[in-house]
Amino acid sequence: PPPPPPPPPSPSPPPPLPLFNIADTPLTSDDSRTPALPQSFSPGTDSVFSDQSGFYSLDSNVPGLSKVILNQLSMKDFGEYRAAVEGKTKGLWFRNYKEMFQKMEETFKFCAGCNKLPERLAEGQTLKRCVKCLNVYYCTKDCQKKDWPHHKKVCKILRLVAIDRLVEWLMFTGDLPFPTEKWSKAPADVKGWDDWLPMQEGLTQSLDRVLSSANMAALWKNAGRTRPDDDDLRQSLWRIQSEFLSRVLTVGRAIQQFGLDPYLKPVTVHIVGASHSETMGARLTDYDELSHMFPGHQGIEIVMVGPEVVDGCIVRPPLRAFGPKHKVYISAYKGLYHQFWEDVVEKGEAARPDVVVGFHPGFHANQGLVQGWLPSLLLLRDYNIPSVFTMFSDTELQYSLQILLELEMHIRDSGPNPFSSQKPEQVQACPNKPPVHCNSHCVRFQGLLPQDDLQGSLNDEV
Ligand SMILES: [Zn+2]
Ligand SMILES: [Zn+2]
Repeated sequence: PPPPPPPPPSPSPPPPLPLFNIADTPLTSDDSRTPALPQSFSPGTDSVFSDQSGFYSLDSNVPGLSKVILNQLSMKDFGEYRAAVEGKTKGLWFRNYKEMFQKMEETFKFCAGCNKLPERLAEGQTLKRCVKCLNVYYCTKDCQKKDWPHHKKVCKILRLVAIDRLVEWLMFTGDLPFPTEKWSKAPADVKGWDDWLPMQEGLTQSLDRVLSSANMAALWKNAGRTRPDDDDLRQSLWRIQSEFLSRVLTVGRAIQQFGLDPYLKPVTVHIVGASHSETMGARLTDYDELSHMFPGHQGIEIVMVGPEVVDGCIVRPPLRAFGPKHKVYISAYKGLYHQFWEDVVEKGEAARPDVVVGFHPGFHANQGLVQGWLPSLLLLRDYNIPSVFTMFSDTELQYSLQILLELEMHIRDSGPNPFSSQKPEQVQACPNKPPVHCNSHCVRFQGLLPQDDLQGSLNDEV
């Protein structure tokens, strides 16, 4: 008898959806090009969705790239992509992992020298990958040669990025993040990764467990390239884990820096502008590191709010009364932050925040995002709420500081974040741009700038 047909690919782990965020978006100030996009898939720059501006900038750099990505995903326009990100369609099934990884890689295929897409190559021509990083492509030897002075500065780091973008799949399979350990030091004594890492005695074991997992094996069987050596993979796993932990530790540091005491009373944290990358596949345990940081606390509540919140288990009502002691409770609300206040907080259906944290608000990205943020920023200022926002780079920080100062925010401090993600982020459509890191910089602010300070700064300007 004929052999039985192979089983259909199991519904889990799910395929990762490529997500574009404001890291892909150039600074408004250095973006002089605003090409017109074909109508059928043209996301504008006037929306509050950061992936929309990410998509837009893909095409400003490599015209047609967003169409390639949509084609690989079998989607006809940006609307279908949004629906998939929001979990409204089930359209994202690949026949097998090989096809999935292949299609993911297709979205990186354009000549890094002249931006030519495969469809515009001459007959018989194919894109060739840089053999050192396995990350960028060229249409001809000539293009590669001309690009080398730029590419050589980032080739080494792009090799790591190319590994990370495959290993990141293990976030979708549940192999990552791996569990962490109880803190043996007081939060005030853990000032950065260098203090945090020595407390993780089981880190090597945890890394090795993922290294030898079935999904790691499946990954390299299907990835279409040779498996990097174990040391490369361990480091990649750690970089990806660090990106996840970076958010939690940034929240913990904010609690610490504003002098809130989770042992005295429960603490409510609002994550404002929570994006798809933070909420897709989010789990109720995602902020448990805070219980390691403040063991025996009175209860910590995390409420994630943003128009890009993806439906899932964390989308549930916030707490009305004090939450369970010693536990972190996560809930999420889809909508703009000031709407959340109007609809929920002011009706007494959610606690007021003790501190508000925003990851990569993208003030720099475009007018639509800034307009979307404005009412929320004024609300934070006028209610005198302790707030921390993170950025991808110092340039973005400086730009954001300008916007906050224009709003007369009282900035308490700003600079590099000691819990920056260790994973380099490549700008997909501009691979030779120096990679940035999530939460690499942050600004802490609260309330209105005292009037005498304001007078002083005005005088300085004169
Ligand atoms: Zn070329
Ligand atoms: Zn290279």
